[in-house]
Amino acid sequence: MNRKEDPAWQLKTRAIRVGHHPTNEGEHSEPIFTTSSFVFESAEHAAARFSGAEPGNIYARFTNPTTKVFEDRLAALEGGEACVATGSGMAAILSTFMALCSAGDEVVVARQVFGTTSVLFNKYLAKFGLNVKWVDLTDWAQWEAAITDLTCWVFVESPSNPLCEVVDIARLAKLAHTHGAGLIVDNCFCTPILQQPLALGADIVIHSATKYLDGQGRAIGGAVVGNKTQVGEEVRGFLRTCGPTMAPFNAWIFAKGLETLALRMQAHCDHATQVAEFLVNHPQVTHVNFPGLANHPQAEIIARQQSGPGAIVSFAVVGGQAAAWKVINATQMISITANLGDAKTTITHPATTTHGRLTPQQRSEAGIGNGLIRLAIGLEDPIDIIRDLQRGLDNEFLFSMS
Ligand SMILES: *Cc1c(COP(=O)(O)O)cnc(C)c1O
Repeated sequence: MNRKEDPAWQLKTRAIRVGHHPTNEGEHSEPIFTTSSFVFESAEHAAARFSGAEPGNIYARFTNPTTKVFEDRLAALEGGEACVATGSGMAAILSTFMALCSAGDEVVVARQVFGTTSVLFNKYLAKFGLNVKWVDLTDWAQWEAAITDLTCWVFVESPSNPLCEVVDIARLAKLAHTHGAGLIVDNCFCTPILQQPLALGADIVIHSATKYLDGQGRAIGGAVVGNKTQVGEEVRGFLRTCGPTMAPFNAWIFAKGLETLALRMQAHCDHATQVAEFLVNHPQVTHVNFPGLANHPQAEIIARQQSGPGAIVSFAVVGGQAAAWKVINATQMISITANLGDAKTTITHPATTTHGRLTPQQRSEAGIGNGLIRLAIGLEDPIDIIRDLQRGLDNEFLFSMS
């Protein structure tokens, strides 16, 4: 009944087959174990589990069979030895730094990370004595100056949000390793289907499972993938003691989400490419940021490290905030919400939402203009996504899908 896992399986097969070990009931779909603790056969058995002499479940704060399906499957997709699921993407980042850093340690972080991640470093991790140096993701000279023998960890997202800038992950991993530091990549936008940071030399991958791994905007979750010691022991140990645990029901959603991830990412990329092409050709659009465009400033790095562009597209319209808000308010289908990675296309105005807490100067340094709009392209028919965007744009230009 228990089919054997084959290490030679291709990515798509791993996403569907890894991690499911049916019980005696012979269930074909992964069951949800809603239990907080696990029972032992005897006092001796309990002692063996607690001492670690015998591997196995003890208490669901740190292991649960449903969560393990998700963890084993994601580890197999990212090519990591170990995966630890967490209650959110933010909990994944927090757990990693709490487990692997001490007061006085220095980390180098790209300025273009998720806004809440910046707050985590500046407001909370800083309180415990972590020294954070911020650098521009695309400025190689800044990386070379910032990473020194004092650096413990380097942290990036690539592509970045909302401008879709990228960094050469293999080159950055090499630079970090030269100084005895490790590289952590938040792989949220690409997922392992489009980019595998560990294979490029990174040491740890972070996920907000909330986004594409679920794919339908249903649950909050996160994950850390890496080696047996740093992730399997240290991050797991933090989870065991501090408890930022993923709920088994959410783990089930994410494990099932992984089964369709390859298909969904392919469609997300295809739809986003069609929308980006429409925007590039629209006279009211001054600039389109999308990793799939041939004129992307880092197209050559993208071709080397990503097998697809992803589905985040941002663009600037003539007319600033008023024009951008007009486009957003004219939509009848696209959801005005900050989430991404959903089957439903979403639209946001970064300058007044995700980046609203920055000063105008910080925003302009970050390249977030008042006319910028961010789209996370979903799985609806691209014809309908384009028609919905067209409503608020100057309509002398009418786009026709042939
Ligand atoms: C959403 C997001 C996070 C945070 O994840 P949550 O699941 O919302 O806690 C971290 N990094 C990136 C790139 C994200 O988009």
